[in-house]
Amino acid sequence: MGELSSTKSNIAVLGSTGSIGRQTLDIIAEYPERFSAWLLVARSSADLLIQQARQFRPHMVIIADERYYEYVRDALEDTDIEVATGSAAIAQAVTAPEVDTVVTAMVGYSGLESTIAAIQAGKRIALANKETLVVAGELIDRLLKDSTSVLYPVDSEHGAFYQCLVGERMQDVEKLWLTASGGPFRTLPRERLETVTAADALKHPNWSMGAKITIDSATMMNKGFEMIEARWLFGIEPRGIEIVVHPQSIIHSMVAFKDGSVKAQLGLPDMHLPIRYALGLPDGRLASDCRKMTIEDMAMLTMERPDVDKFPLLTTAYQAAHLGGTAPCVMNAANEIAVAAFLQDKIKFTDIYRIIEQTMEHAPHVERPGYDDYVASNTAAREYASRLLTDNSFQSSVVSGIRIQLKTKN
Ligand code: MG
Repeated sequence: MGELSSTKSNIAVLGSTGSIGRQTLDIIAEYPERFSAWLLVARSSADLLIQQARQFRPHMVIIADERYYEYVRDALEDTDIEVATGSAAIAQAVTAPEVDTVVTAMVGYSGLESTIAAIQAGKRIALANKETLVVAGELIDRLLKDSTSVLYPVDSEHGAFYQCLVGERMQDVEKLWLTASGGPFRTLPRERLETVTAADALKHPNWSMGAKITIDSATMMNKGFEMIEARWLFGIEPRGIEIVVHPQSIIHSMVAFKDGSVKAQLGLPDMHLPIRYALGLPDGRLASDCRKMTIEDMAMLTMERPDVDKFPLLTTAYQAAHLGGTAPCVMNAANEIAVAAFLQDKIKFTDIYRIIEQTMEHAPHVERPGYDDYVASNTAAREYASRLLTDNSFQSSVVSGIRIQLKTKN
């Protein structure tokens, strides 16, 4: 324990130009004797990918969006870095024998295919793409049972659960307490949510993250996703996971045990910490000269219950988890469409809930889905949600606090 591995660990960073991807590269740069970037994958941020490729000299880069392929290839022509494109190339590259760890930091549903490929190839996975478990937790759970692959959580809350559970027996666990900052609208009156803009929602009080997750954090859909993520990572039923609002984001989550004891993991709200921890596993912690916590940082820690009337997607997530099958996949697909529309100022903040609710009401349910069912379900739900947007038929009215759902046409 504590000895450095004799060989360097080769890391595949999926989503290297996103927030988690860039912070993962910071950690790789912090421990050059320990890690090297073997594969970098970006969706469409070609210039940053090229710049990262020049700095980290990976074996290969993949630009998922084929429109940028020639541009990236030409820019790296003077190097020996292989350049590829397309989602099939990603799923294949992660299975290369040289790859030791796959960091899945792609946004949304797009992370599913390559995560499955990495599991089937028995890779060590630092899981940042929570949507993989939201969408297809049942399938991933099954695949992991037949694989030597291990998932290490990168999400700060799940990193906290993991750390609290080291040395514990799962049968001694009573409950997981999943902490939430409450997002930028925690103290805003509910009526005001109708008029908040994407710019307001992007001002997260504590965490610096990508745009999609920051909006998910403002609606608290992110916390619903994290509940489902925790369910699959730790094998705990949704009713054993309770969400608690902790605005300072210093306690990253807690585990309550049957003897009445509670363990919490604390740290500054900086994603480098959970990434550093996940990459250090299974050997141990990586020492760092990052800013350390002071007494002042934890002088005022508060907890409160979440307001489920103001943030109905928390309830939606528990319902989807309870329904199981393709329900969480549909919820995720509708959320991706709705959040993209909100980011482009096409819909109101509260319309995000309406689009998700209505898509879930109309989507066919598959009880025991296989991979193809998830693909079909994702496509159908995205189409349905997109149609609600174009037809503008997701409107509902709020009358004295009771939401009245207007039926869509036909
Ligand atoms: Mg989180």
